[in-house]
Amino acid sequence: MEIKDVRAGEVSYEKLIINPSWCKGCGICVAFCPKKVLSIENEKIVVNDIEKCIQCGMCELRCPDFAIYVGGKNNEKRA
Ligand code: SF4
Ligand code: SF4
Repeated sequence: MEIKDVRAGEVSYEKLIINPSWCKGCGICVAFCPKKVLSIENEKIVVNDIEKCIQCGMCELRCPDFAIYVGGKNNEKRA
C-alpha cells in the first residue's frame, strides 16, 4: 500500500520510504538493489514490487541524495 505525504514529499511503502523530490534519477539504488525492487521512470525513482524488498538497506546506503530509506526507523511513525 502506498501512503503519500508521510513527511513533505515522501511516499511510504511501509518497508521503504522514498522522496521523489530529492531523487535526481541517477539509478545507483536500482543498480545496487539485489531484489530488483526499484526502477527509474521519467528520471525519478519508482518502486516496482515492494513485496520483494528485504530491507537490506543498500539503496539507502548508496543514495547520494537521501531520497530513499528503509522504513521502521527514524521515528517516521511518531506523528
Ligand atoms: S532495502 Fe534492499 S531490497 Fe529493499 S529496495 Fe532497498 S536495496 Fe532493494
Ligand atoms: S540513488 Fe537516490 S537519487 Fe539516485 S535514483 Fe536512487 S533514490 Fe534517486
